[in-house]
Amino acid sequence: MDDLRDLYQEVILDHGKNPRNHRRPEAPSHRARGDNPMCGDRVEVFLTLDEAGLIRDAAFQGRGCAISQASASMMTELVTGKTVEQAKALFKGFHELCTHDGHDHPATPPGVDPADMERLEVMSGVRQFPMRVKCATLAWHAFAAAVDGEARASSEEETGGSV
Ligand code: ZN
Repeated sequence: MDDLRDLYQEVILDHGKNPRNHRRPEAPSHRARGDNPMCGDRVEVFLTLDEAGLIRDAAFQGRGCAISQASASMMTELVTGKTVEQAKALFKGFHELCTHDGHDHPATPPGVDPADMERLEVMSGVRQFPMRVKCATLAWHAFAAAVDGEARASSEEETGGSV
């Protein structure tokens, strides 16, 4: 399990043990649940958007493996203060980080702060473990479902039918 130990780097462990924004806000404007039955991860994401589409607050509750909870924690920190469009662009970049299979580093999508991509880099080890990609992207899928007005996110599409 040495490979997995590498995956659980210190940053991930820290977010997993001390998740940021792990709370249920009183009156979020958007929310969605995410389930990853393959691993038993669950998250519920709460967002508070203003009229201009700026994410004023992001929080989550849930339980599951360290990667799913750490990723949710990082997601809430990174999307707060961004517009929905900026946050979605960052999700796109993160998804690419988690799934690309070349040696070339994936490009930072337009509109994304390279510093944000650098922070998410610690999660990129999951691309060696297709099962773990679902753990890492679960909260982001729930985020996308929340802003798109869907109550539930599924990470099933991540498997690509090759589990
Ligand atoms: Zn998991």
